[in-house]
Amino acid sequence: MKISVIGSGYVGLVSGACFTEFGHSVICADLDQGKIDALNKGQIPIFEPGLDQIVARNSASGTLSFTTNVQEAVSKTDVVFIAVGTPSRRGDGHADLSYVYAAAETIAKSMNGYTVVVTKSTVPVGTGDEVERIIRETNPEADFSVVSNPEFLREGAAIDDFKRPDRIVVGVEDERARTVMEEVYRPLFLNQSPLLFVNRRTSELTKYAANGFLAMKITFINEMADLCEAVGANVQDVARGIGLDKRIGSKFLNAGPGYGGSCFPKDTLALAKTAQDYDAPVRLIETTIAINDSRKRAMARRVIAACDGNVRGKKIGILGLTFKPNTDDMRDAPSLFIIQALQDKGALIQAYDPEGMEEAEKILSNVTYCDSAYGAAHDADVLVIITEWDVFRALDLPRIKDVMAKPVLVDLRNIYRKSEVEKQGFFYASIGRS
Ligand code: NAD
Repeated sequence: MKISVIGSGYVGLVSGACFTEFGHSVICADLDQGKIDALNKGQIPIFEPGLDQIVARNSASGTLSFTTNVQEAVSKTDVVFIAVGTPSRRGDGHADLSYVYAAAETIAKSMNGYTVVVTKSTVPVGTGDEVERIIRETNPEADFSVVSNPEFLREGAAIDDFKRPDRIVVGVEDERARTVMEEVYRPLFLNQSPLLFVNRRTSELTKYAANGFLAMKITFINEMADLCEAVGANVQDVARGIGLDKRIGSKFLNAGPGYGGSCFPKDTLALAKTAQDYDAPVRLIETTIAINDSRKRAMARRVIAACDGNVRGKKIGILGLTFKPNTDDMRDAPSLFIIQALQDKGALIQAYDPEGMEEAEKILSNVTYCDSAYGAAHDADVLVIITEWDVFRALDLPRIKDVMAKPVLVDLRNIYRKSEVEKQGFFYASIGRS
């Protein structure tokens, strides 16, 4: 099939590249000239393991191409995926749909024959109806269907998630579109990935329900961690004890500094707002958002406590800036809130992240960036692990201790054993392990 993808960010680029692996011919379009120029030179603008090989292979064979000419991309293809951003709208927390609606208008003006327009961006219930209205109004003659197909991939494991998804959710309102979507995902269907056809509104809500539930699960274990500390229990053992129960499952039960990233914060907020608009409030999600916000402040207080209650003029080494390992994505990363809170109290920040420093530099100020974990530890009064990159799991602790001003390690991801670290002469604080 001939597919175009509007928006070539984390989701659009991964989806486009993987669709070529399914045997389709794909044009990835984006308004960002720099991004498209880079892609045309074979450079991948994001860090996503394995993506570079797939892009290189399919660009060379001619099945994957990149353009800023969105109209031309649409006119040459039968299926158009919208994969533009849907950030939080400034001020009220609703999803900002301006990029989706702008894409819909462009698509309407450029369609050539029957076209299936698929919203892959995470969009609130009813957005498909609005996209349909915009296209019909802009181009009354257009022959088209609007489909919802939310994306569930995780950054850092995006290729595997796209090629071997737990399920594919497709919201359709007509048979013609359903047949096209079956063809798009045929290779996965043959691999027995569940393909769920539902109505469009159900599909749109399913994505928010999934992210809301996962955010709630993380928040639940974070609260359990606080309780573990109070009662002298171990949250990792509690997580294992409940996670082995198949009704609960072990994923998303790692206590830590609170969820962040490009999806959970904005999607929980948008879900709560949608529910309020429909007078069916989701109080669990509202509470999850509030707990998660206060958790990040609590993490900063924890670091301050490890410095005897005062960080003014002290050097704090930060290990990990991205919201999780294996990505360079800094959007709403917990590190941003924690670092800001520490700086507000007069701390001097020196940080290292394997992939996130370029993005971090655009957002954070007054941070010294280091070339290794040992650089971040140099002369520091405390070292804080915020992101569990593999390189931080096997640090040379005696070397870290040698370079630090004081041997204090705050491990917000529980990647070390207390006994091991204390044996090396560190003061060690972690999460939910008394
Ligand atoms: P992103 O910011 O990385 O990419 C969006 C791209 O769209 C940008 O490159 C931007 O230049 C481009 N764009 C905006 N308007 C355009 C237009 N009119 N025409 C062409 N290009 C345009 O965003 P992302 O992280 O890929 O997220 C995209 C959507 O997918 C969001 O709704 C997000 O919630 C959802 N999603 C993201 C993830 C994730 O892990 N990042 C996972 C699942 C779903």
